[in-house]
Formats: sequence, C-alpha cells, structure tokens
Amino acid sequence: MKAYTFWFITGTQTLYGDEVIHQVNEHANIMAAGWNDDARIPCTIIPKGAVIDAQSIKETIMAANNDPACAGVITWMHTFSPSKMWIPGLKRLQKPWLHLNTQFNRDIPWGGIDMDFMNLNQSAHGDREHGFIGARMRMPRKVISGFWQDDTVKARMGHWMRSAVGAYESNRLKVCRFGDNMRDVAVTEGNKVEAEIKLGWSVNGYGVGDLLRYIDAVSEAEIDAKMEEYRMRYDMATENIEAVRYQAREEVAMRRFMEEGGFGAFTNTFQDLQQMRQLPGLATQNMMRDGYGFGAEGDWKLAGLGRVMKLMAKGLPGGTAFMEDYTYHMEPGREAILGAHMLEVDPDIAADRPKIEVYPLGIGDREDPARLTFQTGSGKAIVATLVDMGDHLRMIVNDVEACTPYEDMPKLPTARVMWKPYPNLYTSAEAWIQAGGAHHTILSYQLDAEHLRDFCTMMDIEFVHIGADTKMEAFEKELLLSDMLWKLR
Ligand code: MN
Repeated sequence: MKAYTFWFITGTQTLYGDEVIHQVNEHANIMAAGWNDDARIPCTIIPKGAVIDAQSIKETIMAANNDPACAGVITWMHTFSPSKMWIPGLKRLQKPWLHLNTQFNRDIPWGGIDMDFMNLNQSAHGDREHGFIGARMRMPRKVISGFWQDDTVKARMGHWMRSAVGAYESNRLKVCRFGDNMRDVAVTEGNKVEAEIKLGWSVNGYGVGDLLRYIDAVSEAEIDAKMEEYRMRYDMATENIEAVRYQAREEVAMRRFMEEGGFGAFTNTFQDLQQMRQLPGLATQNMMRDGYGFGAEGDWKLAGLGRVMKLMAKGLPGGTAFMEDYTYHMEPGREAILGAHMLEVDPDIAADRPKIEVYPLGIGDREDPARLTFQTGSGKAIVATLVDMGDHLRMIVNDVEACTPYEDMPKLPTARVMWKPYPNLYTSAEAWIQAGGAHHTILSYQLDAEHLRDFCTMMDIEFVHIGADTKMEAFEKELLLSDMLWKLR
C-alpha cells in the first residue's frame, strides 16, 4: 500500500510575506512526516509544499495528474488562499481529491495570540473559501474536518485513501471474459463501454478455444508444481487425484493467459466449456485467493468489482469474496441468508484450513470438479453489487453481520457463509430487490459501506446503501430521486 502516493498540497498566498510561506512549508512537512509514521495511514503522503498563486497551483495539479504513482491529492488551506486562483488547476484535476479542514495548532494560544498568529492560522475561513470553489465547480471530493493529529482524523484519511487506491486500480483494470454470459440472465449483462468510461475497466471476450490451447500446452511438471502448492495450502480430502490434477492444469493455463494479457479479473460460464473436462472450481478459488477477481456465469461486473475491492482492502483483517445469496432461513427471530456458490467460493474468507474435495456437479454436463470447502468466520461485513440501470451504473451495498451457521450441513459440498442483513432480513431483501440488486455480490469483512460510497463518488456512479437505519418509505423515495438525478446527468 505504501507504493501508492498522495500529494499533500497546502494553500496560501503571497500577501503575508516570505516568512509565512516558509512556516506553511515547514508545518506541511511536519504533518506529512507525522502521518507517514502512523499505521492508520496505509499509503505514502508526499508534502508538495505551499502553493501561492494560480500558476503554482496549476503546475502542481498537472504534475500530480502525470505522476503514475499518485493515487490522489489532499488539499488544506493553512492561510487564506483566494480560490479563483484554484480554478485553472482544479479544472484539470484528474485524481481523487480530499479536502482536509484542519489547523496546525490544536489550541488557541490564549495568552500569546496576536495578529501574526491569526494571519498564519486561518484554516477556519481559508478552508471555507476553498470549499466554495469545490462546490461551485461541482467537483466530487471528500471533506474531512478535525485536528490533524487526532486518531479519528488519521483513520478517516486512511479510510479514504483505500477508496482512492480502488479508483487507481479500477482505472487500469483489464477483465478477461472466457466465453459469454449465461444465456437469458439479465443482471449479469451490462454496457461495457459505460464501464470503461466510468470505471476505467477494459472488458474483452475470448473464445474458450483460445484457453483450451493453453490448457493442452500445460506440462506434467507444471501440474506437479501446482499440486505441491495445493498440498501446502489445503488438505487433500479426496482419492480422486486425477480430478485435482485437471484443476491444476486449468489453473496453470488460466494464469498464463491472464499474465500474458495483463488481466486482473476473469469470468467463465458452465454453459460454454467446449472441451474443458471440468468447470474450473479449485483452480478459480486458488486464483481468487491470490487476488484475482472472478465472476461466475459471465458476470464481468462482479469480477471487476471483486478485484477492485480486494486491492482496496489489502492488509486489513478478514477477507473479500465473490458470493451469491443462495437460500433463506426464515425461522422467526433467527432469519438469515446462506450464501455460497456452486463451486467458486473464495478461500480468502476461510476460517479453517480448506479441504480439496471432489463431488458431482448437477449442471454443466462435465466431469466431477474438484473444489475447496471450508467454514467462514463471523463478524461485521458488507455485501456489494453493481448493476447496469441502462442509463447509469448503480452500486448497492448492504451492511450485514456474518454468523456461524446454526447447525452443521454435512451434505453441502461447497463452502458457505451465513449472515444477517441489516436492518433485518425482510427489509433488507425488499430494499435490495426494489433497487434491482443482483444475486451475485462481493462479501467483504474488510471494507465498509463508506469505502464504497467514496469509491462511487470518485468514479461518478450511483451509490445505494441499505443499513441499520433503512426504512422502506424513505428508501423508496430516496431511490426514486436518486434514479431521476442519475438519469439527468
Ligand atoms: Mn451464480
């Protein structure tokens, strides 16, 4: 995460003389050093010193745009910095923007305060002038207000940085589609041109025959090496080693295909396997464990979203996984959702050591596929999805509480997660369904709704949140207004 950099740009002006500019620079350096030493700040903050006029503002912002390591800019007005000076620069800003409203001094120096102090420490009104131009130019931005050394402020800055890392990675993501979407399914479809314009994703399809040539070319030695990796990571709980070896072959081939093409996420579908002998299960799961995004049934939107969320979440405790709302538990007082997928549950969220097992798969009409099975943990989580409303992309996020399944399910041949959605199962489901939420989601124990809300602001797509406070009447009205707003944009 430290490789992503954020430029800290401090606003002032020439009015107060060189000594003030010198002090502004000094303070900005001290602040950046303090932040970079704090574990709450996951990325690197680079102090870019004081900007004093329209020219230096524009040059600094254009340099930030052109720096390939720069994932965002943080602005703060130490003194007053007349914001017409900021227009030429802000017009050109292409990176996520955090406006920090803080002050170098925490307390008013009661006995010593004089006009020099007042001139130097003007964030209280300097940041309001700065805020006006952001609002006037209708620019998407995050505003955080608080003392710069405060733990909450640092945590919120770090939190926003993760969203910006998501934007950074989103803008360079390539998604590989092996075959098309599952036939007749609506929600996994979408406008790939819109996805590239808004999210930066390059989404392209390849014939399964292209992958089959890679599968055929995998050597026995490569399969042996992959089998060794499987044994290191997982328990071999099957006698059917041949089935596992075939998954190893598929994985080596898919990885090679994706490395050569620079892909971070992929899809496939059980309806288009051609000569593939098994639907990739273990192969896909082991790739997701290493950070690849995946969408089943051709769901490229969730493949991309999973990849982006995994990179945003890097280093946080818990895991992030492709998921599907499978079946309900409707016992009064203990209502919950059982999530799973027929094979491809990401071991990133495993709470025990996954087992490799082989079972028949009722659909796809192929040999029995090897897959990983495991239990998952409890705790706060979110489920997120991305749908195409025809005229805009909508992200829907529901806060949930993952819980241990109430009883064992010894006959279920797949990994599973159980969760209670907020505010409760039925309101959550009604809101989700009203909003058009998909059956595929990305479940994350690592991220929260605000990570994705900030991400949606950066990418200029609609964000819909279902949480503890959701009430249907207000939700439906909000959804209607939001939909109208996004139609007009
Ligand atoms: Mn599915």
